[in-house]
Amino acid sequence: MGMSQTLLAVPRCTACGSPAIVKNGHNACGSERFVCKACGARRVLTPKRQAASPRRREEVLRAVATERLTLRAAERVFGVARQTIAR
Ligand SMILES: [Zn+2]
Repeated sequence: MGMSQTLLAVPRCTACGSPAIVKNGHNACGSERFVCKACGARRVLTPKRQAASPRRREEVLRAVATERLTLRAAERVFGVARQTIAR
């Protein structure tokens, strides 16, 4: 629905950060598993971060301004994708 929903991050290896990962089926919960071709790690990707709603975005931006958080930190703290925070 919202345009922010269409922003998709490139999946990366959670161990080394390489984007050179290949799908390797699904686990019992139905989450996709990946194998990293760079370091060989087998990981289940964590669920995608939620896109920030306008209200949430305002809240996060205020926290960024008042707490001097970086957007990366805000993303971690609030569990929203920073791409949806910084326009
Ligand atoms: Zn890796």
